[in-house]
Amino acid sequence: MSKREIDSVAVLGAGTMGSGIAAACAEAGCRVLLLDVSPEMASQGKERMSAGRMPMVENPDALDLISTGGFDDSLGLTKDCDWICEAIVEDLQAKRDIFGRLEKFRANGSIVSTNTSGIPLRSICEGMPERFRTDVAVTHFFNPVKVMKLLEVVPSEDTTSEVIESLATFGRNRLKKGVVYAKDTVNFIGNRIGCFWMLAGLHKGKEARGEGVALEEIDALMTAVLGIPPTGLYGLVDLVGLDVMDLVAKNLQVNLPEVDACREYVQLPSEEQTMLEAGQLGRKTKGGFFRVIVNENGNKTKEVYDLSNAVWKPSVAASVSSVPRALMFADDSQGRFVWNLVSETLCYAADLVPEISNDIVNVDRAMRWGFNWKKGPFELLDELGNKDVVSRLESEGRKVPKMLEVLRSSGYDNFYSEDSTEFLGTDGKCHLVVDG
Ligand code: NAD
Repeated sequence: MSKREIDSVAVLGAGTMGSGIAAACAEAGCRVLLLDVSPEMASQGKERMSAGRMPMVENPDALDLISTGGFDDSLGLTKDCDWICEAIVEDLQAKRDIFGRLEKFRANGSIVSTNTSGIPLRSICEGMPERFRTDVAVTHFFNPVKVMKLLEVVPSEDTTSEVIESLATFGRNRLKKGVVYAKDTVNFIGNRIGCFWMLAGLHKGKEARGEGVALEEIDALMTAVLGIPPTGLYGLVDLVGLDVMDLVAKNLQVNLPEVDACREYVQLPSEEQTMLEAGQLGRKTKGGFFRVIVNENGNKTKEVYDLSNAVWKPSVAASVSSVPRALMFADDSQGRFVWNLVSETLCYAADLVPEISNDIVNVDRAMRWGFNWKKGPFELLDELGNKDVVSRLESEGRKVPKMLEVLRSSGYDNFYSEDSTEFLGTDGKCHLVVDG
């Protein structure tokens, strides 16, 4: 299989993601054409790259490689681009329209991709010419592009392997991303599992609070088990925004398979629903589950929202064990919360291979690189002890998920070899781990 060289890039859409992708490509030394609905929108996107506390480029000279324009006047310039990456608004018809217009201009042999987070690629491809269907893929970057390592690459039914490998090689070698091979299924890999964890977490968190576990403890427990930053679960929802979580949940409700464990969690719990309706969305509204109050002397105090009584109170830092296994199997209210949420999330992931990924390695990488988990689901299962997890599931009368069944029949104890060079495939055999 030969690869197509990518050295010049067009990015369609100069919003948050488009300008991030364009900046990353310019920093990698590519010539970049950045287009939007008007030339002004495109130049504003370029200006944002060097503005603010977190500029999108290390080296401002890289911006000289970026030229801007509007779709109406400059789409023809894509004829000189090796890769055209679409990052316009998340709307099927808008994406199909821009791709339809693009087909008249782009050169044979160029590659096309969409940065959609939730629109099926097959819907974008429906009725499109064969050249488009074989040359197109999803390239799903995470926000902010400069910081997040994950790049999910997804083929359509007709995309050639040459296109996928060219994008993966460019992402890995030039953009320094961690490339994960995903499938054309709802939310791909990272967001499918990550959103399950977050939405289920709000529901399990409600149960745990009912048993006296504080919100700060819940965040500390999640940080300790998953190795994520101290924002934990509620802090992350504050960062994302309850409105975005609700939109994600609504999209899942429409697009998840009919039988899917996440369906149980696609409605926000009643307290969060009330917060959403009141506009208490998170950091962007200066308060969600947490807020920071600055007094007249400039001193800052962190407060936590008491969901049961709908009042703010001072936040108290929680300290918990740092040993995931100890937390997972503890016989107390904290342990029950960790077991309930983490076991459901790990079982969800273990039931989705091979539906969303050919192997466990891509799932683990997606969670490490896209959600900053220290270990992916299968790496964490190995740490927690697969046999103990399975016997507890069985003692609770729960279904043992697909990949844990594969592991049990294989006779191995773990998904990975001790030196992490081999992993268990869906065929029950060992396979070599290759770089991502
Ligand atoms: P954005 O709103 O910041 O930018 C969207 C751009 O699309 C704007 O510059 C706008 O001018 C342009 N646009 C609006 N209507 C258009 C139309 N009808 N035709 C052509 N262009 C139009 O959005 P964003 O956050 O950069 O998201 C872009 C894509 O990336 C979406 O598909 C989104 O789902 C996906 N995505 C977003 C994130 C994220 O965290 N923001 C993460 C991953 C993927």
